[in-house]
Amino acid sequence: MASKNLQNIILLYKIILICGLCLVYSKAELQRFEHPIKPDGSLSILVVGDWGRRGAYNQTEVAAQMAKIGDQVDPDFIISTGDNFYEDGLTGVDDPAFEESFSNIYLGPSLQKQWYNVLGNHDYRGDVLAQLDPILRKKDSKWLCLRSFILNTDVAEFFFIDTTPFVDKYFNNPKDHKYDWRGVLPREEYLFNLLKDLDTALKESSLDWKIVVGHHTLRSAGKHGITFELEERLLPVLQENNVDLYVNGHDHCLEHISSPDSPLQFLTSGGGSKAWRGNVRPWSPEELKLYYDGQGFMTMKLTKYDVYIQFYDVFGNILHQWSRSKGLYFV
Ligand SMILES: [Zn+2]
Repeated sequence: MASKNLQNIILLYKIILICGLCLVYSKAELQRFEHPIKPDGSLSILVVGDWGRRGAYNQTEVAAQMAKIGDQVDPDFIISTGDNFYEDGLTGVDDPAFEESFSNIYLGPSLQKQWYNVLGNHDYRGDVLAQLDPILRKKDSKWLCLRSFILNTDVAEFFFIDTTPFVDKYFNNPKDHKYDWRGVLPREEYLFNLLKDLDTALKESSLDWKIVVGHHTLRSAGKHGITFELEERLLPVLQENNVDLYVNGHDHCLEHISSPDSPLQFLTSGGGSKAWRGNVRPWSPEELKLYYDGQGFMTMKLTKYDVYIQFYDVFGNILHQWSRSKGLYFV
């Protein structure tokens, strides 16, 4: 009888332990940040990607134009779509490239806002932990880079996703490059948890506008084209959860592709410095709303009911604009 009671107690402990583990596992792990909107209920953002070249390849000129347009649109914050430091990320927290490619380049008063950065494949070729290190925030308070995180505002929720670990070739065929996978391995577990956490967070989101930001392309007529690993694993999560915009870099161009089968829009802002002139693949003209193979950046204005996108070239010309409304205006 005593041994039967003991067995029951052990069984009870096992059930409690398993339930506890389930609770830990089911909790979304993505760190959250809050950013206030303007008193008029709007939010204004600049988006730039693929930039860090110590000012070369027109990085300085793009930065100057961002500052000018920034004076007009008064950005609340700035999004960087990754490949922050070429060619091989940062060598450490003391790498002068941080100042030479970031702090000393984006000098305009309108750019002295919070920058929310994701990592690109080139960032993984250096000391990947350096870009995530809070020491960089002490050096320049506008810098913030995490692998994956959520940014809450009163009009939209932004989900920043670390896309580089999805791509097989960086693991299977890295060529002469060395990738810093600290914090990512075991890879499958990392990707599984990331997708699960994103899915959970998207399902919990009560805001109308859901915007996902990553480095790699989901749809692109550029040099890199479609990232098939993301198309297979990330795209279904975005479609199932009614994500409005997927914003990325990686292809060094400005691009807008619409979806034939969902409201999801694909926006590439990867024109922060070196561009790939003439490198464009055929794409359905009904879907390809903009392809610009030069330098530039994107602006986004959001209210509870509207989103308004503009793409600018390095001279400040508007290349393309797009807007969408939802909600009821008469309530
Ligand atoms: Zn890239």
